[in-house]
Amino acid sequence: MILAVTMNPSVDISYPIHEFKLDDVNRVETVRKTAGGKGLNVARVVAQMEEEVLATGVLGGTTGEYISQELNKSHIHNGFLRIDRESRNCIAILHDGKQTEILESGPTLTADEGAAFLEKYESLLANVSLVTISGSLPKGLQMNFYQQMLEISQEKGIPVIVDSSGESLRQVLIHEEKPIAIKPNTAELSQLLGIEVENQIGSLQEALANDLFQGIEWVVVSMGGDGAFIKHRGDHYRVTIPKINVVNPVGSGDATVAGLAVALSRNQSVETVLKTAMTTGMLNTMEAGTGYIDLAKFSQFFDLVEVTKID
Ligand code: ATP
Repeated sequence: MILAVTMNPSVDISYPIHEFKLDDVNRVETVRKTAGGKGLNVARVVAQMEEEVLATGVLGGTTGEYISQELNKSHIHNGFLRIDRESRNCIAILHDGKQTEILESGPTLTADEGAAFLEKYESLLANVSLVTISGSLPKGLQMNFYQQMLEISQEKGIPVIVDSSGESLRQVLIHEEKPIAIKPNTAELSQLLGIEVENQIGSLQEALANDLFQGIEWVVVSMGGDGAFIKHRGDHYRVTIPKINVVNPVGSGDATVAGLAVALSRNQSVETVLKTAMTTGMLNTMEAGTGYIDLAKFSQFFDLVEVTKID
């Protein structure tokens, strides 16, 4: 079973408004509310790939209850640590072809709650073959919290994929316990290294030679419609994808992580791992919902992905 972690999930609310008026009343007819957070997108896509998944993280209040109910409705097993404060809402106002977002930062966790989550995490690992950790850390937790989770997983020999950015990702990379895979996009990679990395083989190869990536089996740099560039052990691969009809690209990075997790837990070949990850990412962009794929289209698009080893 794959364990998908989201430490700061949300109820994502979208308000489509024909013409957004500032300092005035805006009425909304069709409200869409979904259980949001990067790890929940991962969990949904893993489930759609017909692999067993368990979602965990921290939930609280009626907002947290709503998230758990939504997961239950989608038949996604979940075991979250419950706290007595409300989980967050994230609002997207869709207007005039634009998207204005209002993101709550979520509850601040206490040190005791952090410790309680680590205990819960350790107990959940009993039936798990691979873990994904996605998104930002809630306020209150130490920046090396993901690294503490990695230590616990490593003791049990369970591989972890980390899809985070900024300081929480850097902390994961500088410690001895390494994730099996990370999936930065080019902007996150540039931010991490403090240099401008371009979508070109030379620039990517040079960036991935940085000591920070030593010991990580898979560094998957996703590049949206340009596919991905990968460092696997000592080898580099360029993966190209076909032009497709993009409906909603949000969450395609999470769908990519889901594909990566499924293929790695099935012990597939390098080529199949990379093609699976790209296909789930692409399929997500073809659906209106975030963290959704149509499995019926999988093999058609899988066959169109090309993996080239760079000499
Ligand atoms: P997000 O933050 O929205 O989850 P991301 O920046 O982490 O996304 P991307 O690099 O945008 O991740 O996309 C991940 C993968 O999804 C790509 O490698 C590709 O397979 C697929 N994808 C994303 N955008 C497109 C697109 N416009 N056309 C085709 N495939 C796409």
